[in-house]
Amino acid sequence: MRVSIDVGKCIGVGQCVFAAADIFDQDDSDGTVLLHAGGKDAEVPAAHRDAVLEAARLCPSGAVAVTS
Ligand code: SF4
Repeated sequence: MRVSIDVGKCIGVGQCVFAAADIFDQDDSDGTVLLHAGGKDAEVPAAHRDAVLEAARLCPSGAVAVTS
């Protein structure tokens, strides 16, 4: 499973970090989403899949997407 982020859609609510702090972070300057892995998409370790799915579900702006 992979996760991707769309910073243009992100409104900096932080629900993704709440759900999966090992995967997501927020930019110190404006609160927009970052991936700890860097870049805009990354492979999700098996141990974090449920948390990332929850993050995608909770994100209010559709900025987090998962693909299998
Ligand atoms: S939950 Fe969505 S809107 Fe909020 S910081 Fe994460 S990606 Fe951005």
